[in-house]
Amino acid sequence: MSSSIYFDNAATTPMDRRVAEAMQPYLNEIFGNPSSLHEQGRTARKAVEKAREQVAALVHACPDEIIFTASGTEASNLALSGSLGIPARRDAHIITSRIEHPAVLATCAALEKCGVFVTRLPVNSDGLVAPSELAAALRPETRLVSIMAANNITGTLQPIAELAGIAKAAGAFFHTDAVQAGGKIPLDVSALPVDMLSLSAHKLYGPKGVGALFVRRGTDLQPVIHGGGQERGFRSATENVAGIVGFGCAAEIARVTMPEETVRLVALQDRLIEGLCSDQFPAYLLGHRYKRLPGHVCVGLAGMEGDAMHLLLEFDEHGIAVSSGSACSAHHPGSPSETLLAMGFDPVQARGSLRITLGRFNTADETERFLDIFAKIVGKLNPVCSRALVGAGYRQAG
Ligand code: PLP
Repeated sequence: MSSSIYFDNAATTPMDRRVAEAMQPYLNEIFGNPSSLHEQGRTARKAVEKAREQVAALVHACPDEIIFTASGTEASNLALSGSLGIPARRDAHIITSRIEHPAVLATCAALEKCGVFVTRLPVNSDGLVAPSELAAALRPETRLVSIMAANNITGTLQPIAELAGIAKAAGAFFHTDAVQAGGKIPLDVSALPVDMLSLSAHKLYGPKGVGALFVRRGTDLQPVIHGGGQERGFRSATENVAGIVGFGCAAEIARVTMPEETVRLVALQDRLIEGLCSDQFPAYLLGHRYKRLPGHVCVGLAGMEGDAMHLLLEFDEHGIAVSSGSACSAHHPGSPSETLLAMGFDPVQARGSLRITLGRFNTADETERFLDIFAKIVGKLNPVCSRALVGAGYRQAG
């Protein structure tokens, strides 16, 4: 697999070797329960608290504002269900957007069944929520607004500072799902008026099964997992010490390398967009051209939408891992992407996107190889793809 190319970093990232090395002692000799008072326990506790500082530093939070969870999904569940109270207040109102990850959308649907009112804001053709739509949707009983920082399909970045400011001015809490954004773009909760922010270690070269929720001091939040009172009572359960250590290490590496890494990934991304959206191919860019995660490219393929799965398998045959949407779409094969539908694409187009997401270990050489193989595959699947298709105006759709 030495010549294989992994271009699916939005689904998950490979673990950085430095992270794996940092975790190693906590998988073997340091096995104590961080709640134990003996030396084994104290050593584990020290490691968990160091990681808390590292994760806090990534988003400019105070360490005691970080709650470790078992995933980004759990962090968002805690933010939404926990801020509405258990059982959820029946008259409460939540505002979210139509393009959230299922971690937020499915939680909203579950809360709706308990009598909570949910407003799902539309997005424009770039996938952006309009601040004016949020302002118009706020009600006196709006308890929480939850809008993602970066979309997992298109990579589009939302105007979080502005949206959070509007929610706060109306007296609502503001949560952002920053699982895709964490470690890739600067996030500073000392400047952003957000109350809660979800992160996940496996999207930033850390281990799977570890997440965190930033909860600003003073936020009225109730736990959803009850037990021994770990994580200051917000998330009971014995801590995943090795995973948390890995998360801390990954967060620190991301914080230090982000400026340089962003420049490198934006250059690779621009090369990909230029190569894919050239007259040679029927590809059009999805999401905002500039307000996007570094290294995140998502394209539609005019006239080839029905071939998206086929394309993926062809890439796989060539040792290239890309995605047709989020990894979660494997649970709903063939379903159109809700994000693309919300952006105004028809169900055929919304079924046929190709997501190419580059990360820390990808190179310029891989980008060139990908473009060569893309040309071969598209030519094979659609010999008639030509300037004529592009000229039909498909390119404007993104
Ligand atoms: N939120 C977004 C935007 C995501 O992209 C993902 C994972 O793809 C999640 C939440 C879920 O995170 P986790 O896999 O840690 O549960």
